[in-house]
Amino acid sequence: MDKKQKIEEGLMLPVMEAFYTVQGEGMHAGNPAYFIRLGGCDVGCVWCDVKESWEADKWPVLAIEEIVGKALVYPGKMVVITGGEPLMYKLGPLTALLKERGFTTHIETSGAHPFSGNFDWVCFSPKKFKAPHPSIYDHADELKVVIYHKSDFDFAEKHAALVNKACKKLIQPEWSKSSQMLQSIINYVKNHPDWKISLQTHKFMDIP
Ligand code: SF4
Repeated sequence: MDKKQKIEEGLMLPVMEAFYTVQGEGMHAGNPAYFIRLGGCDVGCVWCDVKESWEADKWPVLAIEEIVGKALVYPGKMVVITGGEPLMYKLGPLTALLKERGFTTHIETSGAHPFSGNFDWVCFSPKKFKAPHPSIYDHADELKVVIYHKSDFDFAEKHAALVNKACKKLIQPEWSKSSQMLQSIINYVKNHPDWKISLQTHKFMDIP
């Protein structure tokens, strides 16, 4: 099997960066976590803060054994696979190996590609710029909608109507719009108590 086929099968993946830090946002905020940021994204969010991730070709392609080996040196056993858009790849082999080595597996995804992989926690963050693939809705444990504009509340409700009933619902201010949008976000959860606020606490802590 050549490298291209191995990428197609999820046995090798482009890794933009991988680092041990503290999960800053969502339902698992505050937990130490090893992040694996895969290269490649075709969603195109205007406010994306990792635009350098978009071109998959820029990043080293690593075998999943090497990716998991690097995670093993840290004491924390929670791995977050992010991007880029990680569901551009078949994540079954990577998540199987992570689980075999004792990790819990989390993903942060826009859901724009068919779901794959074995995850303990799926954070689904839909984006207006590319519609989610329908396969994400049954898998989502957490719906996290970034609020950049007041129209995003309706967008959040549209996706909330499609996720499974147990899915947690969070709205999160887009960092650069935080001062303009925060009061509306606070008012929104007070009036819609089935929603929670997620903040990017890693940015307040100045950690990755
Ligand atoms: Fe950036 Fe994520 Fe949007 Fe892709 S889905 S453009 S990586 S914010």
